Amino acid sequence: MGPGERERKDAARGRESARTQERAGPFQFLRAIAGGSASIAFRGAANIPGRAMPFAYYDRLSARAQDIYRRSDRVSEIRLPHPEALRDLVAGLRTALESGDGKAVEVAAGLLGRGLTEMLEVRPVAVQVLRVRPSSSGGELQGLYTPDPRRTPQIQLWMRTAHHRRVVAFRTFLRTLLHEIGHHLDYEYLKLADSFHTEGFFRRESSLFTQLVPTAPAGGAPV
Ligand SMILES: [Zn+2]
Repeated sequence: MGPGERERKDAARGRESARTQERAGPFQFLRAIAGGSASIAFRGAANIPGRAMPFAYYDRLSARAQDIYRRSDRVSEIRLPHPEALRDLVAGLRTALESGDGKAVEVAAGLLGRGLTEMLEVRPVAVQVLRVRPSSSGGELQGLYTPDPRRTPQIQLWMRTAHHRRVVAFRTFLRTLLHEIGHHLDYEYLKLADSFHTEGFFRRESSLFTQLVPTAPAGGAPV
């Protein structure tokens, strides 16, 4: 067992306590519907509080989790060595989404996820695309990342809104995919023991988006 592996096991133990303390925070940390393992749910940018940092839930984290939070917050970019090599996959995702075909969207999102993880030389993540977003008092669930130190981690995305059952707009869908991949990269690329929604995290998500969709205004509202 190398030091990284040991850290990962420690992380798996520590994650639950950090999660418990974060329950009252601005972001929802849910149990996966299947499998019962811990998952990280994203309910959309509407839940992002004011930009004053750190976010309010920081005070409720353990000292160890606060250290992870600060390390996450310090990194504002994930630089892709060859973003242009992924742009055909981004275009493919747009085409698939416009077709409204769930299987095509799942294949396209999976290929983009694979392209990103291979380019960054981290282990893969599986992408599953589901139909209508679950809706609850906390808002519509957009995406879910389930870390797993032993098996392939999984991202679940929903391609239709709960209210009107419309296909999610391309930029919103891509941003949600990159958000969930961002959680994966926190563990696998930045080697953080937990993945928090920090300002740095959202900046990394935006950095991926602007590299893949270079004409998009930085931080612009999804259309
Ligand atoms: Zn998230």
